[in-house]
Parts: sequence; C-alpha cells; structure tokens
Amino acid sequence: MPRRWAGVAVRGDLRVIYLGGLGRSGSTLLERLLGELPGACAAGEVVHMWQRGIVENERCGCGREFRSCSFWSQVGMAAFGGWENVQVDRFAALRASVDRTRFIPLLAGPLPARMRRSLEKYTDYYVRVYRAIAEVSGRPAVIDSSKHASLAFCLSRRPEVDLRVIHLVRDSRAVAYSWTTTVARPDASAESYMTTYRPLRAAGQWNTQNGALQLLGRRGTPVLRVRYEDLVGSVEQTMLTLGQFAGLPSGDGGLAFLGSDGDSRCAVLHEAHTASGNPMRFSSGTVTIRGDERWRTAMPYSDRRTVTAMTLPLLSHYGYVGRAA
Ligand SMILES: [Zn+2]
Repeated sequence: MPRRWAGVAVRGDLRVIYLGGLGRSGSTLLERLLGELPGACAAGEVVHMWQRGIVENERCGCGREFRSCSFWSQVGMAAFGGWENVQVDRFAALRASVDRTRFIPLLAGPLPARMRRSLEKYTDYYVRVYRAIAEVSGRPAVIDSSKHASLAFCLSRRPEVDLRVIHLVRDSRAVAYSWTTTVARPDASAESYMTTYRPLRAAGQWNTQNGALQLLGRRGTPVLRVRYEDLVGSVEQTMLTLGQFAGLPSGDGGLAFLGSDGDSRCAVLHEAHTASGNPMRFSSGTVTIRGDERWRTAMPYSDRRTVTAMTLPLLSHYGYVGRAA
C-alpha cells in the first residue's frame, strides 16, 4: 500500500517494521518471533537506544554492554562514523520538540514549518541508524519495537521509509495488571526495575496509544492490528499473516523455528542484538509461547472494574468484552 508524498504515491526503499502499542503487551516476544523470519533484523526499542545504549552503556540482547557489542559498534560506525559523534543532548532536545504523545494531533496534519524542520532533523537520526542496521545485518527489514505512537507518526512522514506498523493490542486488564508488577531489569549493571504504573494511569495510556495507532492507520500508513492473545493462541497463523504484511517470506520453511514442547507451543530463538526492551530479549534457545493470564486471578477486583470501565469502548471494539474473545 503506497503512501502519498507531495501528492505522489511513494514507497520508500528502507523497510521498517514498527511494533506499536502500550508496553507490557507482548511486543518483545513478537519482535523476537518476527526477527526469526528470513530478511528481518530485530533491533529492539530503538527509541531507548540513544540514552540507555550510547550514554548508559546498558546491555545488548546478546548480553554484552552496548559499546562492547560488535554489531552496534559497526552500526554506530556506519551511521555516524562512531557513536561518539552523536550529540545525545541535541537528539533529546529535538525529540522533546516533536516526538511527544501530546503532539499527535499536530503530527496527524500539516505541520508548522519550524516543527517540520525539527522533525526532519530528528528522524534523520533514525533513518541513519535503520540504514546502518540493514547494511550491517545484511537483512533488509528492520524491526523497531519502540511502541510509542508518536514516533510512528514522526517516521510516517519520511518518504524514504517504507513504514509498516504492527499494532499490538492486549486486554487492557492484563496490561494494567502487568504495569503494577515489579520486574527486575538485567539490562544495567546496577540493580534496576521496570517502571510501574497504577491501574488508572495504565488504562489512560492504553486508550491513548491504541487510539493514536488507529488514527495513524486512517492517515494512510499501513497499520495491521494483532491481538497478543491471538499471537500466543495461534502463533503459526498469526506469523503467516504478519510475515505477509511485513513483506517477509514465511512460507517454505520460514516458520521452522516454531514447534511443540509437550502440550505447549515453542520457538527456537537465536541471539538478537536488541538495544532495549523487556528482559525476554535476553532469552535464546527454546522458548515456550504461552499467554500470561495471571491477571485473571491476581488482579484486585476494584482495579479490574476501574480498568474495564475506563477502557470499555476499545475493549469492546477489539472483541475482549461483549462478544467471544
Ligand atoms: Zn549485541
């Protein structure tokens, strides 16, 4: 589906498969599975690479520190002549001026000239990194699991990027419950934990991010929605559909990494050089694919009721309530 740029249908040559949605929806699992398809390179959450990788030198998915990982060193060299040439402060200032959730209504329409210039400079960083990832990995499709809808809007304005957004949704109650749990981050050398949100905040974010990604689809960017529950429940079928959407051939043995382990479905995953993400990015070898349903028994009833009420319109639209889920 070509997008239009200055009135002309254009499809860029730089293919980026962007995973959008709210965190704790299973995007790391999805990214790892997509990264096994021929021609795809899983890069992790590129949005966090600038601070957590370049500045804080957190660990890559391969287990090495960012600056010691030869893949990312080569990417930095190809993109900027070395990461030391990236002015992260300048990048952060540009990001603050364009890539924010509250700018999405603006990003969905014609931009003021000044903001357009900032957006071009900001997204130049991403275009350089994506090109370098494709070049260094030798795989033409880069998977970015940054998730934020605002970044997807920014990238959608670049004519050279063939942006395909996979909108991953998960039951809002499961997501909100997950945001309340404490999860250790093995990414940094010092003890750290993933951010937590109270259910009310998670529900608000769930509405905002999901609503924004639906808007992006209506603005002409190819967006395909997939439910986490369908991914883990029928992984082969879902991966076939996603592979087709992403232009990643998954027929003829392309899904041979999926199999069974007793009664469970599983995947054999290779090491991936992911810049940031859920701790699952460090797993390799045989990984069980099983839906996380703890929220059904562990979530306090009052939280469940609040989140259901707050997210009811989209929860119903996605088929989680009111009809067979
Ligand atoms: Zn690495």
